[in-house]
Amino acid sequence: MVDRVYNFSPGPATLPVEVLVQAAKDVVNFKETGIGLIEMSHRSKEFMAVTDNTESLLRELMDIPDNYKVLFLQGGASSQFYMIPMNLLGDGKKATYLNTGTWSKKAIKEAKLFGTVDVAYSSEEQTFNRVPGQSEYTVAPDSEYLYFVSNNTIYGTQFPDFPETEKVLISDMSSDILSRKIDVSRFGLIFAGAQKNMGPAGVTVVIIREDLLDRTPENTPTMLTYKTHADKGSMFNTPPCFAIYVVGEVLKWLKKLGGVEAIEAINREKAGILYDYIDSTEYYRGHAEKESRSMMNISFNLPTPELEAQFIAEATEIGLNGLKGHRSIGGCRASIYNAFPRDGVVKLVAFMKEFEGRNKV
Ligand SMILES: *Cc1c(COP(=O)(O)O)cnc(C)c1O
Repeated sequence: MVDRVYNFSPGPATLPVEVLVQAAKDVVNFKETGIGLIEMSHRSKEFMAVTDNTESLLRELMDIPDNYKVLFLQGGASSQFYMIPMNLLGDGKKATYLNTGTWSKKAIKEAKLFGTVDVAYSSEEQTFNRVPGQSEYTVAPDSEYLYFVSNNTIYGTQFPDFPETEKVLISDMSSDILSRKIDVSRFGLIFAGAQKNMGPAGVTVVIIREDLLDRTPENTPTMLTYKTHADKGSMFNTPPCFAIYVVGEVLKWLKKLGGVEAIEAINREKAGILYDYIDSTEYYRGHAEKESRSMMNISFNLPTPELEAQFIAEATEIGLNGLKGHRSIGGCRASIYNAFPRDGVVKLVAFMKEFEGRNKV
């Protein structure tokens, strides 16, 4: 594996090497069956065991209570932007959204197709450089749910604490699921595309409290009804087999490492190394306000766009890949999800120091 580089891609993103090696083997011949993993019936006992194992590991690692269903769906995290309001809203019903970036904006647009949307907070005028504290918004009393994005992948902001509410709490955790300990019982629904912190693209995990399965309007298409998938253990139709398998392997890796608590400590340390350096210099400026900083995505700027381009090009040459910021805000972004190695962060900071020394303004 000497030819691997440090991959700071925001998603699909770095996965543990041992998972990739195992997956490469299993794709050709799964557990000595003589059949490759992606050639195998999803109803075979071997593959059913893969799905069961992935679900039970997720339940164990996230401490998911028994009254929640775990679904493995397709269509990306973006399909949840409409599935949620399609199942939980309807004519005359209202939902409250916190607008903290591109992903919440897209969700708001879809929700408006199915009901009334109350945007209780927006940091759009500050280029989404912060998330709100509890006192900065109020949830309409007639809202069906409160929706927020726990980690804003593009801007590098993250809710340090989750909203306190009597309402059904819904969160897009695509870019920070399994990165820190959370209390699932506070949520009605959590969803995450796998390709940031859990596996490859192709599967979206939905964790939904059972009582929410009975609210879906009758004219909702079968495939877009949560209950369809909940009742059939995500086997109503062919599930994204390969992606579910890889998520399972990533969860095994995470469990071996010590679980969510252990990875949270590592994530705090990794992000700390980068933020400490950014705070020590005027040369690099973090995009997010300090209280809103993400442990997963660290967005920053250099003094000029020209220096940013030079920085990204030179970093790529020494094996630090994927540092270009999202086109909507430019600059640089280091995505350092669970599987991203600490050594890569140390190497990035060393390069940042060296670059600054050579390119003073
Ligand atoms: C990447 C991302 C999405 C979109 O995921 P897709 O699977 O591409 O639809 C949604 N929300 C957040 C927070 C993301 O980071």
